[in-house]
Amino acid sequence: MTEDDFDDFDKLNEKCGLFGFWSEKRSVADVCYLGLFALQHRGQEGAGIVTTDGMHIDIEKGAGLMTDVFRKRLPSLKGHCGIGHVRYSTFGGSSFENIQPFLASFVKGGGFISLAHNGSLTNAKKIRTMLEADGCRFQSTSDSESMLNLIAHSTERTIEEKILRSLNEVEGAFSLVIMTGDKLFGVRDPLSFRPLCIGKIDEGEFVIASESCALDAVGADFIRDVAPGEMVVIDKSGLHSYFLKQKDRLSFCVFEYIYFARPDSVIDGRGVWQARYDMGRQLAREFLTLHDKSGVDIVVPVPDTGIAAAIGFAAESGLPYVEGLIKNRYVGRTFILPEQKSRKASVDMKLNPIRENLRGKRVVLIDDSIVRGTTSARLIELLRHAGALEVHMCVSSPPITHPCYYGIDTSKRKELIASVLSENDTGQKIGTDSLRYLSLEGLLDALDDSADTCMCTACFHGRYPTDVGEVQE
Ligand code: SF4
Repeated sequence: MTEDDFDDFDKLNEKCGLFGFWSEKRSVADVCYLGLFALQHRGQEGAGIVTTDGMHIDIEKGAGLMTDVFRKRLPSLKGHCGIGHVRYSTFGGSSFENIQPFLASFVKGGGFISLAHNGSLTNAKKIRTMLEADGCRFQSTSDSESMLNLIAHSTERTIEEKILRSLNEVEGAFSLVIMTGDKLFGVRDPLSFRPLCIGKIDEGEFVIASESCALDAVGADFIRDVAPGEMVVIDKSGLHSYFLKQKDRLSFCVFEYIYFARPDSVIDGRGVWQARYDMGRQLAREFLTLHDKSGVDIVVPVPDTGIAAAIGFAAESGLPYVEGLIKNRYVGRTFILPEQKSRKASVDMKLNPIRENLRGKRVVLIDDSIVRGTTSARLIELLRHAGALEVHMCVSSPPITHPCYYGIDTSKRKELIASVLSENDTGQKIGTDSLRYLSLEGLLDALDDSADTCMCTACFHGRYPTDVGEVQE
């Protein structure tokens, strides 16, 4: 294997994390900071917070981790309402102009609007062209700014009508936090691709966040998830609810459960750790239909996202769960940095084998997904060098064969190893003794969605839940 083969980790990448806080009692910046800090796994390339006291707007954004961006400026962000964003760049690139939240003035009626977006629009080009033809100027290349400008240019009377009318025109994945001088909004698209939930800290203090782990971080009680197609509005009179046009099915991104979300989050009533554990149990059942249990000795996870599935696999199979790889916790979530050099450096620093646990053992290695196969190959090489006699790779998701159009950074189709090689050939290429992916039916069973009405699973088969235009190869 050349160094060029080993250029990244085999992971898809979440684009963003969102946080919003409304308080009638205190300045909101500290809470926004803590909430976004808990969502850092959803984006490590840039972060921003916008706050307002109703009259003035304070904004701080920058490239890098939360600690880098806000080290000095946090105390200068004032006001009773704030929204924030952590990002990984996909659509629009990684330049400063694309760091969110975005800010605009209403064309009619005065006042400002700020917006942060998790997801990706599939008709962004059309919306942008239409707005530019109307004389709208864009500051960034981001599709999120199209939504902001659509709302800012709306001629509807109230802010609620402006947002609803505009968002009924956009297609694709969008969870949003939006702020004006006197209201905080949380919106989830009708197919509900990305998570968004509501919490409460005290009377008159509401939180909106991508994941419930951020509510825990700021001491908020979980109220509920934002419903598919719902817009919640928080202001001095409390919390109100409006709805976009509904769809006849849901398409929640199954990768939130497989890999993106933190295991301590609960999304749409399902705990992420438990979902991964159940995927591991199902994977074990499928593995044992083809392999004799006496032919392997231990179950080893690829930390951290493979851990819950490996525990489930071990529980179902009766094989011992053993730590065989240790993660350097200070490297950051590998492959979340877009530059090739950063990725190489990250992978080299990321995982180290525990030799005494692996020596002489026939290992079942559990990982959550394989994208290009390069990291899996390196991991298997690491385990063999550490003395493992055999390495059988089990993956707690089906083969990824198609790119994502809903806010996840996947490779091009031809770079996805499962789209060009069979399971056997992939196993040979990455150097494993055997390779087993979780079946799609098994995945949906593990998530209690065997009727396949709730989840987006398009990257496993290419049947997208919305029109995505020309499919990229
Ligand atoms: S295509 Fe895959 S990564 Fe994208 S939203 Fe659907 S399940 Fe998630």
